[in-house]
Amino acid sequence: MRSAPLRLGVLGGTLDPVHVGHVAAAHAAARALSLDTVWLLPSHVPAHKAAPHASPWHRFAMAALAASEDDLLRVSDLELARPGPTYTWDTLQAFAAEGVTPSQIFFITGADAFAGIDTWRRFPDVLDAGHFVVVTRPGHVLPDAVRRHPAVAPRLRHTAASTRPEADDAADSCGIWLVEAETPDVSSTGIRQRILAGKGAGTDVPASVAAHIRRHGLYTISPAARRLHGED
Ligand code: ATP
Ligand code: MG
Repeated sequence: MRSAPLRLGVLGGTLDPVHVGHVAAAHAAARALSLDTVWLLPSHVPAHKAAPHASPWHRFAMAALAASEDDLLRVSDLELARPGPTYTWDTLQAFAAEGVTPSQIFFITGADAFAGIDTWRRFPDVLDAGHFVVVTRPGHVLPDAVRRHPAVAPRLRHTAASTRPEADDAADSCGIWLVEAETPDVSSTGIRQRILAGKGAGTDVPASVAAHIRRHGLYTISPAARRLHGED
């Protein structure tokens, strides 16, 4: 009997820090689309993002700790190892260079991140470089303008958690899968602010990640103080 080809999830982001919302989104996507593995892919912090961030090494370490607690997850240094800004197009090309076909790749984003898809490098070609899995995120809806975009609308496919999309396995074309899931209402920004206010990360990050943040005093210095210390 021929074994089914691998189905690889990829969850990219600054993961500053990785939190239970990322883990839940990875699991929701894996359940809905029968993914074998989800790679956490810490990326460089884009220029437009807020300054208070942990170094790439700490962000990678935290993603690795989260992966070590969870059989579904792995961590990849693919984006951090590449200098300069992170483009999903380049990442998907790098997987292709490793022999992974577009129909085996499932690039997972929250609805907020996918809302800007038409500004991504090589849009709309990027939509043919892998499947996209758009997981619902509390407080964010996928704008109608994005759903109706002529490059997006024909590719949209709905899936309820726990259905196996057998019918589409045969098709080689890549889809944009909408996954309804109740992921926790947490964000890295909120976690950083709470730590800065002395309240800690609580249960919003996996236990080993919370211990790493405490041990290294991450996110305890304000952006202004970082600049004073010459850290930015
Ligand atoms: P920040 O507040 O710094 O932007 P974040 O919590 O949004 O951090 P990112 O690293 O920006 O985390 O997100 C990486 C990916 O994970 C994005 O596609 C984002 O939409 C998705 N994501 C993050 N949190 C959730 C969540 N609670 N539910 C579903 N998806 C999420
Ligand atoms: Mg974000």
